[in-house]
Amino acid sequence: MSTTDFAPIAAAAVWRKAMQAAGYRCVCTGGCGRSHAKDPGERCKREHTAWLRLVAAPAEPTGNPHTDIAAEQVAYCPNCYDGHLAVAKRADRVAAASHDNDVPLFDLGGEA
Ligand SMILES: [Zn+2]
Ligand SMILES: [Zn+2]
Repeated sequence: MSTTDFAPIAAAAVWRKAMQAAGYRCVCTGGCGRSHAKDPGERCKREHTAWLRLVAAPAEPTGNPHTDIAAEQVAYCPNCYDGHLAVAKRADRVAAASHDNDVPLFDLGGEA
């Protein structure tokens, strides 16, 4: 209540399951666009703490809540989650730019 949780309460069980599966540690192995090669297991070393809250997110978040909520949730730290989103958005922009247009001619990830 005192925190600024953006996840609905109903997602708490999903979040806990993702955290337990991940050992309360970010599961990113570089998909965020950064290298985690220097981290133990070549996996992001950030762990869930009182001051750094990991988020439950799809392994490849799209930024579309309808798509993302339906996907299997994994644990990411906020940095890696943002990185994954940025990578996804960049891919969208590249697709759009290749048509010399702001709007992609096809819908990526329309089917679910
Ligand atoms: Zn991370
Ligand atoms: Zn990462």
